[in-house]
Amino acid sequence: MKKEHEFDEAKVADSRRSFLKTAGLGAAALSLGSVLKPETLGQNLLVSSSPSIPGMGLTPADDTSSPAGPYGFKYFCGLVGSPSDPNISWSDDELEQIKSLGVNMLQLNIAWGGRPAGEVLNMEDLNDSQLAKWKFRVSQAKKHGFVTMAQFGVPQVLYKASGWSIVQPACIMDPEIRAKYTRLLGEFCDRFPTVDNILLYTYDQDSWQCSEFGPCPRCSGIPLDERLSGFLNLMNEAMQKHHPGITLWWKPWEISNGQAVKIVKEMNPSHLGLILNPSCANEVYPFNDRAFKSDLGIKRTVQVAADRGIPVIGEFDYTLYTGYYAITDYFPRFVYEQLQSWKELNGVVGVKEYFGFAPSQFSVNAEMLRACMKSPDASLDELLKEIAAPYGKKAAPLMMQAWEYTARGVEAFPWDVTYLLGPMGLDKGDKGAHPWEPVTISNSTWETPAWKTNRAANFMMTADFKAHPWVFEDVGLHLEDSAELLFEAIGFYDKAIAAGGDKVSDIRKQRDSIAAVARAIRGKSLHFLETLTAQDARLVGYDQKQTGIVLKRLDALLEKDVENQANDSVVAQKLADFRKDPNAWLDANLNPVAYESKCTVDWNKYVPYAR
Ligand SMILES: [Zn+2]
Repeated sequence: MKKEHEFDEAKVADSRRSFLKTAGLGAAALSLGSVLKPETLGQNLLVSSSPSIPGMGLTPADDTSSPAGPYGFKYFCGLVGSPSDPNISWSDDELEQIKSLGVNMLQLNIAWGGRPAGEVLNMEDLNDSQLAKWKFRVSQAKKHGFVTMAQFGVPQVLYKASGWSIVQPACIMDPEIRAKYTRLLGEFCDRFPTVDNILLYTYDQDSWQCSEFGPCPRCSGIPLDERLSGFLNLMNEAMQKHHPGITLWWKPWEISNGQAVKIVKEMNPSHLGLILNPSCANEVYPFNDRAFKSDLGIKRTVQVAADRGIPVIGEFDYTLYTGYYAITDYFPRFVYEQLQSWKELNGVVGVKEYFGFAPSQFSVNAEMLRACMKSPDASLDELLKEIAAPYGKKAAPLMMQAWEYTARGVEAFPWDVTYLLGPMGLDKGDKGAHPWEPVTISNSTWETPAWKTNRAANFMMTADFKAHPWVFEDVGLHLEDSAELLFEAIGFYDKAIAAGGDKVSDIRKQRDSIAAVARAIRGKSLHFLETLTAQDARLVGYDQKQTGIVLKRLDALLEKDVENQANDSVVAQKLADFRKDPNAWLDANLNPVAYESKCTVDWNKYVPYAR
């Protein structure tokens, strides 16, 4: 099964923001010789007495007013290249193509957990060859009129095991770690005096924080908000000393929303900015449900930032991770809605595209982005008409319908079940085939504040081994609803192809891509619903009338499966066998093992010391 999926769950977890499954601290921190010394817990390390230096007073940043820039924002930040297409040359041509989308700020590195193309993730990665690369990038950015931003995970973890199952954080209360990053940030500012923005991740991106619940001798008992706000203030002071006026942008990633709000209240607001995902319970939702102002955590964080004069840049995803999943970017409505949604929140001064821009992958959504930036006051309908016009008079309205149904299909997908959405039918190469074992749901969790709070509320399944059949039914029904909508889209694509015009091959490409996703999602739905129906049949086996009703339903599902898999011989044989002898079929297929269950040690409690 795994071979079918180009992005199996482990790979997805590792190659996306590579959440670390923390294991607390290592042997050093646990050594009996580590004794709490008053000076290591000195108040100067915490937020309450962050020293002030010139330029670091309580004057709010002068960045919260948004002069008319891209879409009415001051900044539109983009990445050159993306994790799925990282080898971008930063050539004049590529930068101009990205600029044509309205981007006016470039991130200097892709900064993605899996380090695609060896891109810099931590300050420690800035070796001579990377420095030369960055000098070139900075000069190219300047030549094309972009503001620049560096992104680092700070502090870099001391140790991580392969698969991220064990990690030893670098302790931000350790004077040596604090001195190290004070020095590294100062050196960076000296070396790149024109880079006016540094974005820091303090969790993930190969960084992590000690838990106050032990066993670090410096952090135990000290809430994260106190430690992190003090550390970030210190980092900003170091930056200001070397580059007065530079902005430290911080992303409250992997922490709970309660912690984020508290930290934003506590930090020195001068020359500080926040970069926020649109959801405090997930990465990026491309739609405005449980995100933007409908996510009360995000709404509140933006309010607090605005009250304190701290500018916010909001992230959006214009494609849904192009290249990572089977679904491609043919849902331009979401681009418009995401930009609008950030605009509705007072205090948001910019937007940042989350996954990156690879001009070779630009498609319908990139056209929408360009159109939005060109006409920030245009209505959705006007913008859709504009990007559909090149398809020809007859095909254009049909394309608008196809994109709308594609967007509805994405919205209907069961986003709220599990973070591991690849195995839910979005993996590349998934063609609608499925095993004949009972269906399972892959779910995930990590030992971070976000996962134990807001994300646990966002996903029905995080660390669960068992769930009610209604969860499985809900998934199956959502997947089928999503598939139906995508098939509706295909109907409009077919009509647009029949209408002819200059862009038939482009339409066909979109159509075939959506058709593959629709098939995969329907196949996944069938696996869920067939599993439940087969068990229903076993449950009512004592009653001939009820059995007849259930078997009829199972027959219809299997028939649909055969059609969805284009009469593939394996599934066709399954249907034939079922019709020949339903009872034997129920014994052999989708049949749960009821006399045993899989038990694991609670490994989170018995974690080896980091090596
Ligand atoms: Zn610590």
